[in-house]
Amino acid sequence: MIITQSRDWERIEADLDEIGASRVFIMGCGQCATVASTGGEKEVLEAKAKLEASGRTVTGWTIGEVTCHSGGTGLDTRKRSGDIEAAEAVLVLACGAGVQTVADAIAKPVFPGLESVFLGNVVRHGVFEERCQMCGECVLDKTAGICPVTTCPKGLLNGPCGGMWDGKCEVVVDRECTHVLIQRRLVEQGRHAQEVLSPKDYSKKLKPGSVNLREKKGGSR
Ligand code: SF4
Ligand code: SF4
Repeated sequence: MIITQSRDWERIEADLDEIGASRVFIMGCGQCATVASTGGEKEVLEAKAKLEASGRTVTGWTIGEVTCHSGGTGLDTRKRSGDIEAAEAVLVLACGAGVQTVADAIAKPVFPGLESVFLGNVVRHGVFEERCQMCGECVLDKTAGICPVTTCPKGLLNGPCGGMWDGKCEVVVDRECTHVLIQRRLVEQGRHAQEVLSPKDYSKKLKPGSVNLREKKGGSR
């Protein structure tokens, strides 16, 4: 899921002040931002209270089912078109993809209420860890299911680096070195020690990414 954190509230107020918006509509997200406790109903109502405390009027709010889904967000915004029309700005408590989906769906100025920080695993309730940077050329088959690109702070495909000490990472000192973990798991699974991995082909990580399942072939990059 996309991990988000609350945006500096002063920045949000400054964005709204910049366009002189005294009437605001708020949209959250029922998926990632709800799980991350940044854009669910509780957080939307907290944002509403803060906006009202600063003298603004909240014309309405809603929680998109999946705010980054164009069709669903188009439907949600049409259902609330009166409240959105009455607002001078829309504050979106969703990831950057969700914010852009809302901005595409309506003509009003749209502002992000969150910072999108990484694609993360839910380790347990309220604890998220980055495990994949979506590099486009996965090496987990060679690394016992542990991603060196993401979990080694230096992003080293081959390691450990010279700073590893007693199995610990020199950068995140309370964590075990990714490459020690990889070697240990490979051995535990009766597999060969990690082979030297070739440099990755980062051209496979072209931006903007696009996958079109409707095209017969060549629909991804
Ligand atoms: S190698 Fe790591 S960053 Fe790349 S796709 Fe696999 S898990 Fe994601
Ligand atoms: S100690 Fe290991 S995990 Fe830490 S930066 Fe060096 S190779 Fe990467």
